[in-house]
Parts: sequence; structure tokens; C-alpha cells
Amino acid sequence: MSILSARVAGKNPAARLLAVLALTASLLTVSSALAPSASAVGDGCYHWPRNLSQGMSGSDVAQLQIRIAGWMSYGEVLVIDGDFGPATYNAVRRFQAGYGLTVDGIAGPQTLGRIVQLQKDDCSPEHFSWAEVSENCGRGLNSNGSVSLAEVRENLKRAMWKAEALRHKLGDRAIIVSSGFRDKACDGSPYGQHTYGRALDLVPTWNKTGYGEFCDIAQAARYAGYNGIFGPGYPDHYDHVHVDSRPGARTWDAYPDCGVIG
Ligand SMILES: [Zn+2]
Repeated sequence: MSILSARVAGKNPAARLLAVLALTASLLTVSSALAPSASAVGDGCYHWPRNLSQGMSGSDVAQLQIRIAGWMSYGEVLVIDGDFGPATYNAVRRFQAGYGLTVDGIAGPQTLGRIVQLQKDDCSPEHFSWAEVSENCGRGLNSNGSVSLAEVRENLKRAMWKAEALRHKLGDRAIIVSSGFRDKACDGSPYGQHTYGRALDLVPTWNKTGYGEFCDIAQAARYAGYNGIFGPGYPDHYDHVHVDSRPGARTWDAYPDCGVIG
């Protein structure tokens, strides 16, 4: 059925009605085929081809996990493995609650749409940038780290998404990155977490009157999927909070009242 045939049929009122009904039906068919299944949820960075829920697996699940890995319970680190298990389900629920969405643990158009809103076409989250995490010692990602620059880039992306979650949990107070990726020559410790792109040094920009703001960040980081946290009280960490996603054991240190000794 087409618009043209509906017009031709228009000479006879009864035929015209039937034609309009048929046209309407055909349009409905077309629109349901194009309905925003999750295929419509995406941008210049990534398109999710389907809605995601517990029990599914795939690279699209991994892309979701990267973006919600900062929404964890105390000390928990989300494994980016492409399997939508209970930890991913709970992270989705916390993300949804954090952004005032319906809390159902399903990544559908609403949740994926919110992620896309937070995401720039270059895959960095809204409040952090590639330039910010690779300038100075990072040589704009034009120098050697401890792994390939592709891997450094992937690690930085994951670190930024955790920082975005941390920032939102602190009431969207502005946090800047004073140092992200560092090349091996600049870092001084050839296998430091910064040379992998796994680490960010975070600095609060609000109302600095002591160590309280740094402690706020260090404490929030415990729930943001970082298993390396060094805040005020740890040597040379009085003007930033170091957070990283190191493999292996959790390593946290700061003043006792920052609550991250351990
Ligand atoms: Zn650091």
C-alpha cells in the first residue's frame, strides 16, 4: 500500500476509507519495525544493538560494563568480561537510582539512553576528556607506556568512566585530573599504574579548606570500583587523590579519618 494508491482510491468514499485504513496499518508496520529497539541507542562512540539484561553475554555487555563500573558496592571491582551477571545487574540498578531512572536492573532505551547522554563521540564521559588524562607527562598519548597505546587508551577510558560515577555521587561537584597517563621516562617508576593508563590523580575544585574535600573523593572512590586509592596521609598525596584499577590485591591508604586504610 502506498500514499499514491490511497489517493487514487479516494474517488469512492468507502474505498477511500479502506485505503486509509490499509495505509495506516502499513505505516504502523513500518514504524514498529523501526521502533526504538535498542538499535536506536547510540552515538558516534558506540551503538547498543539490543536491550541487555541478566544472563546475556557479548561485547555489547562489556561496553555497558565499562560505563557502569563506577557504581559498585564497597571495595567491589566489576570484571569487564561481557557476562551480565549479578554484579553487573546491581551496578545497573545503582546507576539507575543515581540518575533517577526506573530501577529494574535492565539496560533498555532509558538506561542506555542516559549513558549515551553522558558520553561524547570520542567515548569519554561528559566531565572528563582525553586531553585532560594524557597531557604533560602523557605527551598526548604519543610516547611509550608499559603497554601498547591502544591498551593505555582503553584503560584511560575505563578510569574516566569510574571517575564520572564518583563525581556524580559527590553531587556533581567538579573534579579535575591533574595527571593521568604518564610515559615511562616521566613517571619515574617504570611500571607504575600511571604508565598503564590505569591511574588518575583527582583534585577537587570546590571549597578547599583542608583535607576534607580530598577525603570525600578518597571515600567515594571505595564505591567506584577502584582498588588502588591513595589519599591525604599517604606520602606525597596531600594535593590529590590517586585512584587506579590495578590488577591483584586492593591497596588503599590515607589518614584514618579518610577511611581508606587497608
Ligand atoms: Zn597517581
